[in-house]
Amino acid sequence: MTKLEQIYEGKAKKVFRTDDPERFIVEYKDDATAFNGQKKGTILGKGAVNNRMTNLLMQMLEQHGVPTHFVQELNDRETVVKKVSIVPLEVIIRNISAGHFAQNYGVEEGIVFDEPTIEFSYKNDDLGDPLINSYHARALKLATREEIDTIVRLSFQINDLLKEFFLAAGIRLVDFKLEFGRTSDGTIILADEISPDTCRLWDKDTNEKLDKDRFRRDLGHVEDAYQEVMRRLLEDKA
Ligand code: UDP
Repeated sequence: MTKLEQIYEGKAKKVFRTDDPERFIVEYKDDATAFNGQKKGTILGKGAVNNRMTNLLMQMLEQHGVPTHFVQELNDRETVVKKVSIVPLEVIIRNISAGHFAQNYGVEEGIVFDEPTIEFSYKNDDLGDPLINSYHARALKLATREEIDTIVRLSFQINDLLKEFFLAAGIRLVDFKLEFGRTSDGTIILADEISPDTCRLWDKDTNEKLDKDRFRRDLGHVEDAYQEVMRRLLEDKA
């Protein structure tokens, strides 16, 4: 497969066209942003961790029947994925209170919910990714009722699988963000990434933060945290 021209550059990844019309190549960067792009920085080695971790998790999910965009890891930073058009919804699943949930509803971080929550935001940087519900999403024609039903069902299934997988590596899955895409035949599949950029991950015993909150909140040892998560996930596999 030949890598052709770049068609998109986001905050953390670049996407390239290939000579196969149904395949893209994604390239993960070390660039980090937070607070809708207001805070910028570099996390050395992040691109490689996020690439390898996303691929490991997507392969695990595929084995359990979740359709994903993963095709083939090319090297440390590059992966072949199925071509999709991204559904402009960010799906957030929460198992434990943190971040905006704690802030918006005036509760402390660390409350373990009886069951997971789901919320959507409209993926639109100019508007600051505002929260919306499924009726708004349909009114805006971002997705059909059937597509939203599929996205909700897959998101909770993914949560169950990821929670168990992380726990086996000594990590609590606090919350995370997913994005889905439509293939050319209209099938909804998991796309984007699953990494310490998009998940809150706390050590099972100490609740030490092992994710992008170390960058957002200037807690130090950001690089170490990303490497530590990857090390634990691979150790668990060995
Ligand atoms: N998240 C993300 N991208 C976003 C917003 C949130 O990956 O644009 C992830 C974030 O890392 C966390 C979860 O979604 O794991 C919930 O984030 P929250 O709504 O609490 O917002 P935050 O405090 O991260 O801005």
